[in-house]
Amino acid sequence: MEELVSLCKRRGFIFQGSEIYGGLQGFYDYGPLGVELKNNIKAAWWRSNVYERDDMEGLDASIIMHRQVLRHSGHEATFSDPMIDNRKNNKRYRLDHLVKDQKADVIAKVAAAMGESAENFPAVVAALNANPAQASQALKDAGVRDPFSGEVGDWTEPKPFNMMFKTTIGPVADDESYGYLRPETAQGIFTNFKNVVDSTSRRLPFGIAQIGKAFRNEITPRNFIFRVRELEQMEIEFFCTPGTDEEWHEHWLEQRLSWWEAQGVPRSKIEILDVPKEDLAHYSKRTYDLMYDYPTLGHEEIEGIANRSDYDLGSHTKNQSELGLVANVEENLDSIAKLTIPHPETNKPVVPFVIEPSAGVDRALLAVLSEAFTKETLENGNERIVLKLKPHLAPIKVAVIPLARNKAELVDLARSIKNDLQKLGLGRILLEDSGNIGKAYRRHDEVGTPYCVTVDFDTVGKGEDASLTDTVTVRDRDTLAQERVKISELTAYLQAKLK
Ligand code: ATP
Repeated sequence: MEELVSLCKRRGFIFQGSEIYGGLQGFYDYGPLGVELKNNIKAAWWRSNVYERDDMEGLDASIIMHRQVLRHSGHEATFSDPMIDNRKNNKRYRLDHLVKDQKADVIAKVAAAMGESAENFPAVVAALNANPAQASQALKDAGVRDPFSGEVGDWTEPKPFNMMFKTTIGPVADDESYGYLRPETAQGIFTNFKNVVDSTSRRLPFGIAQIGKAFRNEITPRNFIFRVRELEQMEIEFFCTPGTDEEWHEHWLEQRLSWWEAQGVPRSKIEILDVPKEDLAHYSKRTYDLMYDYPTLGHEEIEGIANRSDYDLGSHTKNQSELGLVANVEENLDSIAKLTIPHPETNKPVVPFVIEPSAGVDRALLAVLSEAFTKETLENGNERIVLKLKPHLAPIKVAVIPLARNKAELVDLARSIKNDLQKLGLGRILLEDSGNIGKAYRRHDEVGTPYCVTVDFDTVGKGEDASLTDTVTVRDRDTLAQERVKISELTAYLQAKLK
């Protein structure tokens, strides 16, 4: 992981946010190559889920939302993590992270004090949350250390910390003039359900897909881009007839696993966690968490696939009592919309069930990079780092390299080849005229460029072999094979390789 983080900075994938002022924890900036990789991941997701299906619409809802949305969604009341303070140094931690990071014997002592087995960590955390006074004592007695100072802490009682970012809206700041930065993109889909149905004439089953930023004031952002405060999500809310939800849930689990595979994240590295009832989010009937085996971190959630029942539309609709809702929702006297759709068989208005595959773009990028990162020993004994990214994800598709940077003839031809390739719409093609071919190859191995095209003196008829005139060398990132290709055949050649 450390090597990957250093490559990300060195080669311009990811930088610390606000770095020149000392950085801001939990915020990252995507650099010249990071933005390409991120865009490619999002495009692959959009293609597969929107364009290649016949039952999906897209959406881009606003980030700042009316406080009523986040009130009726349940986030104001429940979107919180347990927080605990160390009185000795006034540092604040997320309770479960704090305990999880202790030595095994300390965790065992905490678990025993709470009457739970250390093997069942979620149960230990649940017990700590449910009994704050006992929890504080248990952590002190077990000698739970402060991760910052390394000393045994003087722990307060844990209490819930709401993770939503609140912001004022408009020029007057009073008790009413605030909204929230959305903590998930999902709510924008639910609040637009009626708009999409009315404007597209969709009938059940169908889905709405959205990619966008979400914000969570994580108590302890950590592990590079794994847990950040400003994140991006790729979410689908798939609306189906009640009773067909379980089938659709399985469908989406399968779809999503095969999508990850196509991005180079194999099934064998993903564990499917059928989330135990007591750990389910307030809206969930059942959830599968896809737990990817991140280097150093181990199995952590990359995507959640939840059956949200009729909870969300049921929470945001008016006339709740007439709609035969299954989920237990809070009363809503604020909504002005009835969020129903005709039942496909009876034609009676029904609040559909929702299956939600929700993946994090940042966590996807980290997994894709982790899988692609490869160290190889070459035949000559040298070591090379190579990112074996799937070509559709590579930030740069082709680097066109004039062998000598100060020879106008070579540079001009390289530029014209670059311009021709760029027109194919494959993604970014780079004119790499830094001069040193060895360094250029090394750099493009490290950033995952699938092909390098070199224009040399033979290409322009000034080399030793006249038969090579009007040909270029194409170097394959993975096999290192170099092939001489006619310029007139180059676009077709690369188009076939990169499709
Ligand atoms: P965790 O348990 O790791 O905090 P979560 O269960 O709160 O995650 P969800 O609410 O299910 O996450 O969000 C859906 C997806 O959004 C996650 O699978 C993850 O990929 C991404 N995600 C959530 N929180 C973060 C974060 N703080 N930083 C980066 N990605 C995140």
